[in-house]
Amino acid sequence: MAQIEPIATLVANLAKLPGIGRKTAQRLAYHILSMPQDEVRQLAEAVWQAKKRTHACAVCGNYTDSDACDICRDATRDTAVICVVRDPRDVAAMERTHEYHGLYHVLGGTISPVDGIGPEQLRVRELMARLTSVGEVILATNPDIEGEATAAYLARLIKPMGIKVTRIAHGMPVGGDLEYTDEVTIARAMQGRREL
Ligand SMILES: [Zn+2]
Repeated sequence: MAQIEPIATLVANLAKLPGIGRKTAQRLAYHILSMPQDEVRQLAEAVWQAKKRTHACAVCGNYTDSDACDICRDATRDTAVICVVRDPRDVAAMERTHEYHGLYHVLGGTISPVDGIGPEQLRVRELMARLTSVGEVILATNPDIEGEATAAYLARLIKPMGIKVTRIAHGMPVGGDLEYTDEVTIARAMQGRREL
């Protein structure tokens, strides 16, 4: 069945989202069309505002709508520990555990020579600049090939500075994704972190 152009365009755009196949895009599009006009406008506006009003925290790289993010500005956080993660989604996953009270550093990716991503493309220099009064760096990149390579690279860089470097391990499935790991497993992975 041929679809009229506005619906086809909506479906095509929804299908570009991760985890949304053609069928789901189809279902979402028809659901949106059945919603009251106000709600559709609210949804579109929320998408646009979230994109327009957020940017990377100048300190850690997490999303924020001000200069520094809520975590960096929180005086109760332990500033002696920095947990290094791949992207802002991992910060959200880690925060859901309520187990970690230090700061974060978002790399903005992981080292991947095949994709042409080296340390220069990541926020590594920014991380090094933050390490002046830090006692421990927790490397919480995903336990996949790129995540392990990135952790090994950072450990080689940071350990000579006399800073304790640990790696989450225990409980995280090999090839797993932090974002999709449940809170209990992440919490255990943090508790069971080993020194590199
Ligand atoms: Zn921040």
